[in-house]
Amino acid sequence: MSIASKISEITSSLPASVRLVAVSKFHPASAVLEAYNAGQRIFGESHVQELSAKYEALPKDIQWHFIGHLQTNKVKYIVPFVALIHSVDTVKLLQEVEKQAARQGRVVPCLLEVHVALEESKFGFTIASLRTLFQQQAFANFPHIRFDGLMGMATHTADVAQVQSEFHLLSSFYAECKAQYMPSFSQLSMGMSHDYLLAIQEGSTLVRIGTSIFGERDYSQS
Ligand SMILES: *Cc1c(COP(=O)(O)O)cnc(C)c1O
Repeated sequence: MSIASKISEITSSLPASVRLVAVSKFHPASAVLEAYNAGQRIFGESHVQELSAKYEALPKDIQWHFIGHLQTNKVKYIVPFVALIHSVDTVKLLQEVEKQAARQGRVVPCLLEVHVALEESKFGFTIASLRTLFQQQAFANFPHIRFDGLMGMATHTADVAQVQSEFHLLSSFYAECKAQYMPSFSQLSMGMSHDYLLAIQEGSTLVRIGTSIFGERDYSQS
């Protein structure tokens, strides 16, 4: 199946409330262009250098989403054009985005990454730590950041009940945040190629799909 037909198969199965982020990391600009010509406009990348190169090479009406771990010293390279950062995982990173966004005169939309999976990960806030931060008003002084919502990943497992319970946990916490701390929240980013249907059932508004559109990634070039 072509990239175009995979895009149209996936987008036609999504409810109106859910947008597709086509995850193009490790795939060439030509593959992005193929998806673009099929009407796709939102693309997700997880490496700053790769994202910057694709931004330069590709049409300027693409909305680039950053979905990987972001190092503070690289923030300045993507702040001028990034449409949404899904993966803000520390207050320190937020401070750097704020600083660079102020410098560039932009307001940068961000999601806070929450760690809900069983796998050990250095990345993402725990729910408990975010709750404390909200209660301490830790996100009150970021005039150049728009807090759009939360992002998370479920455990990579065939155990459907486990994945469902993690998405449910994240979704409940999202509702709590919106009701109690962040009325401006509008986006819940969860779901990848193998689990996006479960994520949608639990209330996802942004699904990040790579492999099901572009095929397996070729890491040998990196
Ligand atoms: C790579 C990646 C994806 C896409 O994963 P697929 O399994 O290829 O759909 C989604 N989210 C994040 C954070 C990723 O790094």
